[in-house]
Amino acid sequence: MIIKANNPALTSWIDVEKNSDFPIQNLPFGIYSDSINQHRVCSAIGNYVIDLYELADRGYFKTLTLNKELFNRPYLNDLIALGKSATRALRERLSDLLESTNQELQGDKKTFDAIFKPQSSVQLMLPVKVGDYTDFYSSIDHATNIGTMIRDPKNALMPNWKYIPVGYHGRASSIMVSGSNFHRPKGQMKPADAEVPTFGPCKLLDFELETGYIIGKSSSPGQSISTEQADDYIFGMVLFNDWSARDIQTWEYVPLGPFLSKNFASTVSPWVVTLDALEPFRTEGYVQEPKVFPYLEYKGNKNVDIKLEVAIQPENGEETIVCRSNYKYMYWTMEQQLAHHTVNGCNVNVGDLMGSGTISGPDVSEYGSMMELSWKGTKPIKLKDGSERKFINDNDTVILRGYCKNNEVRIGFGECKAKLLPAL
Ligand code: MN
Repeated sequence: MIIKANNPALTSWIDVEKNSDFPIQNLPFGIYSDSINQHRVCSAIGNYVIDLYELADRGYFKTLTLNKELFNRPYLNDLIALGKSATRALRERLSDLLESTNQELQGDKKTFDAIFKPQSSVQLMLPVKVGDYTDFYSSIDHATNIGTMIRDPKNALMPNWKYIPVGYHGRASSIMVSGSNFHRPKGQMKPADAEVPTFGPCKLLDFELETGYIIGKSSSPGQSISTEQADDYIFGMVLFNDWSARDIQTWEYVPLGPFLSKNFASTVSPWVVTLDALEPFRTEGYVQEPKVFPYLEYKGNKNVDIKLEVAIQPENGEETIVCRSNYKYMYWTMEQQLAHHTVNGCNVNVGDLMGSGTISGPDVSEYGSMMELSWKGTKPIKLKDGSERKFINDNDTVILRGYCKNNEVRIGFGECKAKLLPAL
């Protein structure tokens, strides 16, 4: 299938800087508010947010037969529920309107300020109403590192790991959009050398470098989505910081898994980059040995080459990049995760968020959490201001960034950031 909007030769009449996350080949979807409008569906190009309601209201989408009120909603759910053919046609139409030789919108100078707003002048909101959130554990380097640290280097991966895309059900209520700061969680923890647990602010607060994908089509109870059908159910991807309290986790996770160590906050980026826009950056997956069950087999290149980085910025200080990883290090693909999630008949809904799990690469500079970077706190990381971190300090801001780049096009996700405030 050829996606016209992905054509690397396209240029826009809107100025786009060379290293922008938002060239005409991206056109992600989000929700913005400003002093004039509350909750409008938007896209992005260069440094601008594009108000899609204003475009619809002026008849620019009339060939698409979309109800303009779909763009005047607090979340993207109703729009993406129309399905891939509708959202693909919308992205194609937007691409046409922004393309250099097209005069329709370019010639309409009076409407520019109503439609195009500097990104810096608006507030980007949580893009989807997340009904259910599931987090996987699909990076082989991450799972190996954690298994090595907390169990046994010789048997770092649990026996199930190469058979099952391991995951758990997370909590949707505390998923926040980038820029929402939160307080250090409190809870029970038991240091290894202590007899009994203590209670107080968590001491080992960590980030998890993840991406997420947003479900764009609901399935019915009893139905299983195959790896082949999966892409039709995945609307797009976001950056995702799945904050974790490691000390609370170590004490509570037996025998049912993570609970309060994970459910206090997760930060999501405001832009959903469509799976369509990511197609040119698909790349080969891991050779999976032992062979997976037939329901987990897939065809073609299903990993995605997304360069990822994490920066820590101390209060009033300069940021330091502490990790550079890549989504292509995922052992289990999104399609396999979704096939596994629904193989038992579990239904998914539009707006559900699936987290990748921490994405680490093989090199020490590619580890996607402080737990790994500081190797359980034994190797502090030096920041540019001379201070050291084993985990995240109060008033540190953690920033995730991600982008795809080949010889022709660079498309990005923007930022996913939040500041850790002291415990209440
Ligand atoms: Mn996680």
